[in-house]
Amino acid sequence: MDSTNPKMFSQDIPTPEPETPFRPRQPYRFSTLCATVENPSQKDQYGSSSVPIYQTATFKGVNGQYDYTRSGNPTRSHLEHHLAKISSATHAFVVSSGMAALDTILRMLKPGDEVIAGDDLYGGTNRILAYLKTHGGVTVHHVDTTKPDTLLPYINPEKTAMVLLESPTNPLLKIVDLARIAADIKERAPNAVIVVDNTMMSPYLQRPLEHGADIVYDSATKYLSGHHDLMAGVITCNRDDLAKQMGFVINAAGNALTPFDCFLLLRGSKTLAIRMDRQQATSMLVAQMLDRLGFKVHYPGLAEHPNRDVHERIADGYGAVLSFTTGDKALSERIVGATRLWGISVSFGCVNSLISMPCVMSHASIDPATRAARGLPEDLIRLCVGIEDPADLLDDLERALLEAGAITLTAGGDSHQCYVRTIPSEGTAISRAVQKLAFNGSAEYTTEHNDDREWFVSAPGKVILFGEHAVVHGVTAVAASVDLRCYGVTTPRHDGKVSVHFIDIDSFTQEWKVDDLPWDAVTPVRVGDFHPDTLDHKLVDAITTRALSPEVLAKPSARQACIAFLYMYMIMAHGGKRPSFDFSARATLPVGAGLGSSASFSACAATALLLLYSRIQLPAQPAPTTDGHVHVSHEGRRAIPPALAEEVNRWAFVSEKILHGNPSGVDNSVSVFGGALSYTRPGFGRKAGMIPIQGFKSLRFLLTDSRVPRNTKQLVAGVAAMKEQEPEFVNGLLSAIQHISDEAQRALADPQLSRQTLLSALSALIDENHGYLVKLGVSHPSLEAIRSKTASPQYALSTKLTVTLVPDDLSESSLRELMASLSGDSFVPYLTSVGGSGLGILSPYNQPQLLATPPESPCESEARAGAVESLRDTFAGKATADLTAWADNLGRWLFV
Ligand code: PLP
Repeated sequence: MDSTNPKMFSQDIPTPEPETPFRPRQPYRFSTLCATVENPSQKDQYGSSSVPIYQTATFKGVNGQYDYTRSGNPTRSHLEHHLAKISSATHAFVVSSGMAALDTILRMLKPGDEVIAGDDLYGGTNRILAYLKTHGGVTVHHVDTTKPDTLLPYINPEKTAMVLLESPTNPLLKIVDLARIAADIKERAPNAVIVVDNTMMSPYLQRPLEHGADIVYDSATKYLSGHHDLMAGVITCNRDDLAKQMGFVINAAGNALTPFDCFLLLRGSKTLAIRMDRQQATSMLVAQMLDRLGFKVHYPGLAEHPNRDVHERIADGYGAVLSFTTGDKALSERIVGATRLWGISVSFGCVNSLISMPCVMSHASIDPATRAARGLPEDLIRLCVGIEDPADLLDDLERALLEAGAITLTAGGDSHQCYVRTIPSEGTAISRAVQKLAFNGSAEYTTEHNDDREWFVSAPGKVILFGEHAVVHGVTAVAASVDLRCYGVTTPRHDGKVSVHFIDIDSFTQEWKVDDLPWDAVTPVRVGDFHPDTLDHKLVDAITTRALSPEVLAKPSARQACIAFLYMYMIMAHGGKRPSFDFSARATLPVGAGLGSSASFSACAATALLLLYSRIQLPAQPAPTTDGHVHVSHEGRRAIPPALAEEVNRWAFVSEKILHGNPSGVDNSVSVFGGALSYTRPGFGRKAGMIPIQGFKSLRFLLTDSRVPRNTKQLVAGVAAMKEQEPEFVNGLLSAIQHISDEAQRALADPQLSRQTLLSALSALIDENHGYLVKLGVSHPSLEAIRSKTASPQYALSTKLTVTLVPDDLSESSLRELMASLSGDSFVPYLTSVGGSGLGILSPYNQPQLLATPPESPCESEARAGAVESLRDTFAGKATADLTAWADNLGRWLFV
C-alpha cells in the first residue's frame, strides 16, 4: 500500500537516459507524472508552460491534424494524452460528464445483449441501465458483486456482453474483487467487456486496467478535477477495437468535453496525487475518531472492514469517502445540521469537505423498500473529506456530535474526561437538519404550537391502468394518481377531546376523551424510528374493544377508519403531547370503488398527525430539486421535500395495513408521490418493487362506477382457482398481460413518442387487456355494458373494466353526452386526469386569516374566531363537485 511505488505506464513521458551506468534513473512516480503535462508529439509553438485553450470550433485548411472541435481539439488531445498516461492506458477520451462516459460505453450494446451489474451501483448508473432495459432490449442482471460467485449463474458465453463493476461502492464502501471477477468472466465469456466505474478511487489509487478490466471510466467531476467547478467524464482502455467504437460514438454524438473544461480538468488533474494524499490521510483520522467513539464506521482503512485484504491487493489507498451510522435517523439529521465546516452537499471529490445523508439526498430516488433491501441504513451519514486542516475538520465534527447529543463527556476528574457515544434517545427538534439539507439554510417553518393551528391536507386516489388481477400472480402493474382526492382538515379543540368527522361515510362523527383512550396498550414509536413491519395487534385490539362503541363497530368503513386514525394518534404520541383536535375528512372520489380512497385517506390522516406532533415540519420556501429525485408532481411543484414525503408514506402504509390487512404499498405510494409507478410483487422471478415512471404524461380517463358491489377477494380467488385448473391457459394470459404492461411503461416513459401515437398505442393495449380480463372471468355484464356503450361508433373509445381512455380529440359535447348516457343507465362516471400531483398541504404562509394560529391578543382572538369557524364549516358544507376548486383557491398548496 505505498502510493509512492514507481509504476510503469504505457504512455509514460520518456524518463531521461541514465547519465552514467552507475546511477540509473528510476521511472517517474505518479505525482511527477501528474504534474508534468508533456506530450512529446504535441510541442507548443511558443513553449507555453500551460496548455493553451484552443477555444475554436473549426480549424482552417485541409488535411490538417484538426478540422472541427467535435472531432478533435488540441487542448483535448493534450488532456487525453495526460489521462491515458496516468491511467496505465493507451487510449483516453474525455466527455461532458461521468454519465456521458457511461452512455458512450453502453452504446456498444445491442438488443438481446445481457449485462451483469452490481446491485449497489451509483443511482444514475441504475437509471441509465433501467432505460436501456425498457428501450434498448437489453437484459440487466443486478447481483451482489461483493460475492464473486453470485455472478457465475448469470454468465452466458453467447449473451453476456458487458459486466459493470464499482469498487468500493458508494456510500457503504463495499469492496468488489475486480481481478477475480475479471478472470472468471474472461474464462467463461471471453467476448464480454469488463467495465469499471473508478470514480471513488481515481487513477491515483486504483487502475483497474491493470487487473483485467477492458474499459475504465471516471466521473472527473470528482477527484480528477477536484474543485467541483466542472462536469466531465473520462474513459480509458487498452483495446484498439473498443477505442475505435467509442471514438466513433463520441464524434457521432458530439458529447466530447469543451476546450475550456479540458483546460480546467488538465489543471485540476496536476494536483490529484497531493490532494488525494491529504484527503485520505485525514479520512483515516476521521474514521478512527468515529470508531473510537463507538459508531459503526464504513472505511476500507479500518482493520475490521470486510474484504479489506482484497482492496489492499488491488488499490494503492483507502480513498477519502467514509460513512457511519448513529442508530437514529433524527440524530443523524441533527449531526449533519450542526456541522459548519462540512458542507451539506451531494457528490464528493472536492477540496472542500462534504457531509450528507444518502437516504435523504443522493439515494432518495431509490424507494425506501429497495434501500432497505440493499442494507442502506436510513441513519447513514456520508463524509467526503477535503484538504482543510485535519484538526479543524475533527474539531467541527466533534462539536456537531456533541451539539446533536450523539456524544457526551464522561464523568470524572478533568484529566480523565473523554467523549463517549450516548445511546440514542427520543429527539425533540426533529427534522431541522433535513430542512437544512433541502432548503440550504433558509429558515424552516417552525412553530412551538403546531397543534394550535389548523392544517388542510389532501392526497389523490389511484387507478390501476394495466395489470390489475394479474399483479397478484407476479405481473407488473402500472398505477397512476387520479385528480379525485381525499381532503382532511384538523381544527384545535382545547377541551381534552379528540374527534373525527368522516363526511362521506354518512357524515359519521365520533369523539373521545383523550385521557380515556387505552394508553396503557401503547408502545410508542419514538421520533426518528420507523414503525415496525407488523402492526401492534395489542393496540389494535385495545382500541377496538375499549374505545369503539357497539354502534361504531357495526359500521365497517367508519370503524376501520377510526381504528387507523386512533392507532396512529396514540402510537405517535411523544414528549407528553396528546393534542385535542378534530379531524374532518372528505373525498371527491367514490369510497370503496377500487380507486384508492383508503390510501388517500391514510395519507391525509398520517400527514395531519405527523404535522400535529411536529414529526415533520414544513420548510419556509419551496424545495429546490434534489439530485436524481424522481417524485415530480405533474405540475412540477416539488415544495414538499422527499424526506418528508417518505415519512408520510411509511405511516400511510401503516394505516393501509389497518384498513386492508395486507396491502401492496402501491396505493399509498401513488397517493403520496403522485405521478405513476410500476409495481411487481416479490417472489415471481422478476425484479420486484416499485419504480416511478419518469416523464409520465397526464392523460384523461373516464372512471365509471358500475354501482355493482364487487367482491375483490372473490374475484382474486376465482383467478387463482382457474390457474390451478388450467395452468397453461392462465399462464398464457398472464404473460400476455405482462407484455402489455411492459409495452405501456415503455410508451408512457418514451419522450420521443408523439401524444397521438401514445394515445393510439394505449387504446390498443387497453382493448387487448380487456379481452384477457374477460377470459380470466373478472368482468361482468354491467362492465360489458359500459364497455359496449363507450366503444359504440359515435365514441369509439377503449375501455378496460371501469377505465375508459379519453383521447384529446374527443369533443366536449360528445364527452358530456356519453357521461349523461352512462348516468342515465345508473352508472356514475368520473372524468379524471391521471398522473398528477401527490400529497398536498395548504401552505401555512401568507394566509393567517384562514388558519387558527394562536392569537397574540384577546382582540385578535375575537377577530379571528369567525375565520377559524368558516374554514372547517365551509369545508364540511361544500358540495362535492365544488370542493376541489374551493380548496385550490384557498391559497398556495405545497405538493410532493
Ligand atoms: N459514477 C459515480 C460513482 C458517481 O458518484 C457519479 C456521480 O456522482 C457518476 C458516476 C456520474 O458522474 P457525473 O455526475 O459526472 O455524470
